[in-house]
Amino acid sequence: MNTSDKHPVNVSRTVERLVAGQATSDGAGVKLTRVLTHNLQQRLDPFLMLDAFGSDQADDYIAGFPDHPHRGFETITYMLAGRMLHKDSAGHEGLLENGGVQWMTAARGVIHSEIPQQEEGVMEGFQLWLNLPKRDKMNAPWYRDFKNAELPKFVTEEGVAVTVIAGESQGIGGAVTRDTTQPNYLDLHLPAGARFAQKLPAGHNAFVYVYRGEVSIAGKAVPVQRMAILANDTLADGVVIEARADAKVLLISGQPLHEPIVQYGPFVMNTQDEIYQALSDFRDGRLGESA
Ligand code: FE
Repeated sequence: MNTSDKHPVNVSRTVERLVAGQATSDGAGVKLTRVLTHNLQQRLDPFLMLDAFGSDQADDYIAGFPDHPHRGFETITYMLAGRMLHKDSAGHEGLLENGGVQWMTAARGVIHSEIPQQEEGVMEGFQLWLNLPKRDKMNAPWYRDFKNAELPKFVTEEGVAVTVIAGESQGIGGAVTRDTTQPNYLDLHLPAGARFAQKLPAGHNAFVYVYRGEVSIAGKAVPVQRMAILANDTLADGVVIEARADAKVLLISGQPLHEPIVQYGPFVMNTQDEIYQALSDFRDGRLGESA
């Protein structure tokens, strides 16, 4: 029995568009590639941003991200290699390293820092921003970090190693689930020639980011360091990813909120007035207060 027997996807979604992302820097000068940029927020609702960082040059990451605020959404950091220390105004502290995931729900407000704990070597990973529904934006912050060994994993009959960061795949529940946005976040390691099928509700927005090797989706090649936005084909019941070489990819999907998105830097709310409120709360030292 192979995976497609166990969880058949009859019709795969197609690739609507390939995106290369934009080289930029953030924090105190950390070099990164913004894969999911501002202009794709509506299309990929409920996701607001995906940054990929990866360098063996300390100058590219050493300054890290000193104290800065967030309000209105969740940040999910997946650290493939390297060591980063997180500290925040809600009293959480955690060392993120080597395959670990940090899930931070900023909600009404967190001020935090993310500082590298290494002076050389490779630092590589991803930060995804997931929006919160309007009714949850002013909830209390929440935080958890997961060591790599704590993340749910399985290997398919075809040898695809799957890490279920959020959501569900082939009956395996992810480290985190969310009722409203229903994020599904998988890291897939595919040997050359292997296929992986994932069921996806037609209304959910979905994308694939290839960070090693090359895959094809419904006959379309997706090369390394490209995001494939998957079409919301009404007849498709999922996606089938085929590895053209040994490949590593993120498969991310979620249920769109269909609410207004107003972003000002690290604040993502529904109205301009709520942004002004966030700015004044931050200026007055009220943003990171507990209750
Ligand atoms: Fe941050």
